[in-house]
Amino acid sequence: MLRLGCYMFSWLQLLIVFVRRALIVLSSLALCLSACDSQPASKAELFAQRKTMVEEQLAAPGRDIRNRRVLEAMAAVPRHEFVPKALWKSAYSDDPLPIGYGQTISQPFIVAFMTEQLDPKPTDRVLEIGTGSGYQAAVLSRLVAEVYTIEIIEPLAKRAEADLKRLGYNNVKVLAGDGYQGWPEHAPFDAIIVTCAPDHIPQPLVGQLRDGGRMIIPVGPSDNQQLYLLQKLGTEVEQQAILPVRFVPMKRAQ
Ligand code: SAH
Repeated sequence: MLRLGCYMFSWLQLLIVFVRRALIVLSSLALCLSACDSQPASKAELFAQRKTMVEEQLAAPGRDIRNRRVLEAMAAVPRHEFVPKALWKSAYSDDPLPIGYGQTISQPFIVAFMTEQLDPKPTDRVLEIGTGSGYQAAVLSRLVAEVYTIEIIEPLAKRAEADLKRLGYNNVKVLAGDGYQGWPEHAPFDAIIVTCAPDHIPQPLVGQLRDGGRMIIPVGPSDNQQLYLLQKLGTEVEQQAILPVRFVPMKRAQ
């Protein structure tokens, strides 16, 4: 009886120990999985991904971004800082990404391509329409003297302004408003970059471009958009369509 009781007790004990151990293992596994999932990639990993992005998506044959300063700026600006933390793992993928309010941060190649087309000089003052996350403005800020950027969605303008400041991009000024009208107080600009698509080229922007200045702008509905490169030459404006693209539409203030 006693022996039997003893055996019964130890089987029960074994079972309890087993169940407790299993529970501990399972709960630490769950903890680890959730931690791994929310754990952002390390700085070193993100740096390596950014280097690969430059080599494979920008400088590679077929993509052909050649401007050394543009490639350096793309290698230096932490794109992950301009996307939600949940998307850090995709921050250096070859895609646009959502940034909230129905808007997107452009594909890295498009940012580099448009920047290269502007032929930015260290003394330039540049106007951007469509601040979004602030990423394009950050890239420009490393290449030119001053960046002025306008965003029509106020919370996005505020967030981009705070992010740019936090990351030390001190030569960028952000304005919440309708970029169709440009920023006359700071005109003329050496270059203008528009990252949302109107259905025609806004005359106020052409007016705020200096003689000899360049503007890059997507024009048209989202299923049939072209990226145009304009150059102002006296009273003339030379323009050429250079790439089919798909940007969010330019909104107008009511
Ligand atoms: N350059 C951005 C991406 C732009 S997405 C980046 O690097 O993240 C296009 C942005 O243009 C959106 O944020 C949208 O709200 C903004 N936009 C649309 N119409 C606008 C207008 N009339 N004036 C200023 N910004 C506008």
